[in-house]
Amino acid sequence: MAKKAPQRIETQLVHSGELEPRVFGAVSMPIFQSSTFEVGEGGGGYHDIKYIRLNNTPNHVVLHAKLAAVESGEAALVAGSGMAAISSTLLSVLSPGDHLIVQDCLYGGTHDLVTKDLAGLGITHTAVDLDQPSTWEQALRPRTRAIYVESITNPLLQVGDLDAAARFAKEKGLVSIIDNTFATPVNFRPLEHGFQLSLHSCTKYMNGHSDIVAGAVIGSAELVEKVKHKLDHLGGALDPHACFLLHRGMKTLALRVRYQNESALKLARFLERHPAVAKVNYPGLETHPHHARARQLFTGFGGMVSFELRGGLEAAERFLRRTELGIVAPSLGGVETLVTRPVTTSHAGLSVEERKRAGIDEALVRVSVGIEATEDLMQDFGAALEQQ
Ligand code: PLP
Repeated sequence: MAKKAPQRIETQLVHSGELEPRVFGAVSMPIFQSSTFEVGEGGGGYHDIKYIRLNNTPNHVVLHAKLAAVESGEAALVAGSGMAAISSTLLSVLSPGDHLIVQDCLYGGTHDLVTKDLAGLGITHTAVDLDQPSTWEQALRPRTRAIYVESITNPLLQVGDLDAAARFAKEKGLVSIIDNTFATPVNFRPLEHGFQLSLHSCTKYMNGHSDIVAGAVIGSAELVEKVKHKLDHLGGALDPHACFLLHRGMKTLALRVRYQNESALKLARFLERHPAVAKVNYPGLETHPHHARARQLFTGFGGMVSFELRGGLEAAERFLRRTELGIVAPSLGGVETLVTRPVTTSHAGLSVEERKRAGIDEALVRVSVGIEATEDLMQDFGAALEQQ
């Protein structure tokens, strides 16, 4: 049989992993809402058991194949949340007494997991500036096992030297782990850049409709299997109905993300020109300190923008009250535009000192650009920013 030509991501998102033949011919994968499955003739061993907590029902299997295909992984695993994916991954590669190198500006939940929960288990860490590869060597300890980074950081939208981080991990024999939630496989495929494990909060762009909480781990079959064993024991499974919604959401990922890339860039340029705005963070802007690197690594700059207002905290709060299209809510990556002050949501767990060190101003506003007409968003934001 002739070898199939490699497919582009738009096609993979729609077709990869789908069952052949289709179940009763159904074009859309049905939901197998069954916690357990009949053991076939002859019994079978523990590993043949199909059970929702083991993330191996037909809805999981199809989703794993699709997730692996879109990021060029050998295997993938879904989890009950992004944090379930992150915690199971870290606990599967680290043991008490081990040490972890992390990027110095992590998503708040991951920051807390590393600094509080892992520390409580005797797992230490050192935070490094992902812009300064020459400083990473100093962070190494005899029991450093892994390096953990994010493709685009939250909420300042920084892009570290990701290629150097993957190379450093390989040279030093560390497991390289990246949270690729913000970039999505449409804009960046970490395994093609040498990372070993790519993680997602599928709650965000992967699903894209702000109606489920889910996570994913993508990588080599060996590492993903290790994470699966940990996840099986911790119990962070994804329900088949949520699998179905994630599967459906993924089919339109490329369309949504490409539109959001375009819309966010236009909105960032609009905000940059606005007299009430002091500073805009968006890697697609030429003024962004990591623009050249983002251009080289990514095929798009993503749908997240953050900005500071000249009028400080009061002006930021007024903007949030006045915007009619931006829904004031945490989370991101959905079809509706969401706006937040990270200090009150994603980074509420950080102390004032920690926030200062990370450069997160209390007046910073973060926007997750949805799929509304960009002109409508600009008009709405313009009106909300007037008479600041
Ligand atoms: N990673 C990033 C970059 C996030 O923004 C979030 C949530 O906001 C998470 C991980 C955690 O994901 P979840 O809320 O699905 O557990």
